[in-house]
Amino acid sequence: MADVSAECNIKVLCRFRPLNQSEIIRGDKFIPSFQADDTVIKFHPAFSRCTVPLNTFCLLSLDVLGGYNGTIFAYGQTSSGKTHTMEGKLHDPHGMGIIPRIAEDIFNHIFAMDENLEFHIKVSYFEIYMDKIRDLLDVTKTNLAVHEDKHRVPYVKGCTERFVSCPEEVMDVIDEGKANRHVAVTNMNEHSSRSHSIFLINIKQEHVETEQKLCGKLYLVDLAGSEKVSKTGAEGAVLEEAKNINKSLSSLGNVISALAEGNKTHVPYRDSKMTRILQDSLGGNCRTTMFICCSPSSYNDQETKSTLMFGQRAK
Ligand code: ADP
Ligand code: MG
Repeated sequence: MADVSAECNIKVLCRFRPLNQSEIIRGDKFIPSFQADDTVIKFHPAFSRCTVPLNTFCLLSLDVLGGYNGTIFAYGQTSSGKTHTMEGKLHDPHGMGIIPRIAEDIFNHIFAMDENLEFHIKVSYFEIYMDKIRDLLDVTKTNLAVHEDKHRVPYVKGCTERFVSCPEEVMDVIDEGKANRHVAVTNMNEHSSRSHSIFLINIKQEHVETEQKLCGKLYLVDLAGSEKVSKTGAEGAVLEEAKNINKSLSSLGNVISALAEGNKTHVPYRDSKMTRILQDSLGGNCRTTMFICCSPSSYNDQETKSTLMFGQRAK
């Protein structure tokens, strides 16, 4: 069993994307600068580098296989690189993001493990939009409820679960979920910036002789855009959406900072659906990684500042 428990269980990593074409044309400045060696090794406006220690995900996959739970988030304003970080190019080994890399890593470990271990790996894929949980693998399930199992562990009741036996099957499930999501909405970009998408990998293993069992799960969360409402001058339905997002992101921030402060007596998990679902995969012995995704453009400096402050709360 991999034991990284001596380390802090909440890791915060910051990633700046490169300036995009329209920012360059507008003449925006590239604002980030990094001093410490461990922040960024090499940096150039056309080259963004993620400060992920190479073995982070390898360790995380081993932890989940070792019976720990975990959560990886991407937080940031719309267009800051959250989906690029979490998914990237699902079928391109050079452009893969975290989900496909973790999927590959988990199966690589499993293929190298004791042959007497039997694995059952299930994945689910859903989104939370306006506080409603929508199953991305079954379009008929548009308002799923959070229940507690007999051990009082919250879960999304009735959410589709798919068994997977190789990384390609994981990617197929993601493709299917994304295709369903496209069909359900008129503007996918707008929609994805206003909903949280959650991919769950659930691993059960059993030793065929000793019958010893072990369970671990990993939530991979692409959060809704964190931009403030005032900037867009929103009204009506858009304003309601924005308020809802702010509320759920601040609930998440409150949970993370309570955990980071070592507050064991009151962590406000119950304040939002998302934090309730993640309750047994955040804090305690769980492995939590937060990607703070930022735009490097001077145009977004205020948003970038508040994004970085969100990450700071977890420290
Ligand atoms: P978000 O999900 O936060 O709204 P995206 O991940 O969709 O943002 O990124 C917005 C655009 O920027 C996409 O076209 C994406 O390919 C590009 N991008 C994001 N991060 C990077 C990066 N690190 N390197 C190169 N391009 C990136
Ligand atoms: Mg996105």
